[in-house]
Amino acid sequence: MKGLMTNKALEIPSFIVMDVMEKALEIQKQGHHIIHLEIGEPDFPTPQCICQAGIEAIQKGYTHYTHSQGIIELRETICQWYFDKHGVSIEPDQIIITSGTSPALLLIISALLDKGDQIIMSDPHYPCYPNYARFLGAEPLFIKVHEEDAFQLDPTTVRKNLSPRVKAILINSPSNPTGTLLSREKMAAISELGVPIISDEIYHGLVYGEKECSILEFTDNAFVLNGFSKLFAMTGWRLGYIIAPRDFVRPLQKLQQNFFISASSVSQWAAIAALRDAQKDVERMRKIYNERRVFLVSRLKELGFGLATEPRGAFYVFANAKHLSSNSYDLAFDILEKAHVGVAPGIDFGKNGEGFLRFSYANSMENLQEGLRRIEKYLQAR
Ligand code: PMP
Repeated sequence: MKGLMTNKALEIPSFIVMDVMEKALEIQKQGHHIIHLEIGEPDFPTPQCICQAGIEAIQKGYTHYTHSQGIIELRETICQWYFDKHGVSIEPDQIIITSGTSPALLLIISALLDKGDQIIMSDPHYPCYPNYARFLGAEPLFIKVHEEDAFQLDPTTVRKNLSPRVKAILINSPSNPTGTLLSREKMAAISELGVPIISDEIYHGLVYGEKECSILEFTDNAFVLNGFSKLFAMTGWRLGYIIAPRDFVRPLQKLQQNFFISASSVSQWAAIAALRDAQKDVERMRKIYNERRVFLVSRLKELGFGLATEPRGAFYVFANAKHLSSNSYDLAFDILEKAHVGVAPGIDFGKNGEGFLRFSYANSMENLQEGLRRIEKYLQAR
């Protein structure tokens, strides 16, 4: 294929979690039963009130392009949401509704980074982050985070890595894969570094103790990314948004117009119901995630996995498996093939994630129990 396709298309790394899932589906096709703990996707159906709003939007004929920034009703509802949750005042003209948080990432990184520029991010991190940067000719600059510090990004280390080449700092709290919540103090310190912050807030609301902070509580020199996939179990609706400082909106809007035109109209109408009417559903799902989290943490410890600190957000446990193998890729595939349980290898999340496995608890308690029973047997047989 060399010469026929661009190097950037040929060289972009695969999303290993997806590779694990695809292998799992192959094994499933051969008639085996697989427990999927590799996937970061809510197992709950989208709440009924949201589906109903989507159906009504179709029936009313809201099935065309919308304003490139998104329908005003949704943007106003997002402003209200951020005010109610975080006490911050934003205006609808600062928002661009996108077809998921993934396109929002593409727009933001395209708008802030030129060839050769650097973007700071933690290691481990969401696997796709560095791939967006590299694809656009920029360079990810990794700051290691450690289990003994609850995987917190250290502002002093970030400061030491700043240079004129660093154009943005990317944070993600609650975090995928570690489930950590960046403390109020650390977020405040990072916001004072004078570099634009991109804050991926997609796991907001999925917290099991202390409340999460939004970067907008600390600075306006920030770009919030958020979406409906996780909190509202709406992965298939493909809807997210950017909240940007006003001066940056027009360039972002032009990127949106050219690349995506607008986000799905039907999904936008459904998303209004999500923000306004789905509180009870969200609370029900959050409680169930928490029960699973408590179970998974204690069971993984029992099986000898290392958990220096408990995850407090998202729906992942990032467990140290170095006593089993220093090659998390091989280990994950071995567990899949022998125990028929899908888990995500730590290396997918960065070099510093090597030796860890990410277990998703976006799966039923029965499946978690059975998955862990299978892993226990697998460990006994090793
Ligand atoms: N950011 C993070 C941290 C994620 O975990 C995900 C999904 N796994 C996304 C962004 C993208 O989500 P979506 O495009 O479905 O909104």
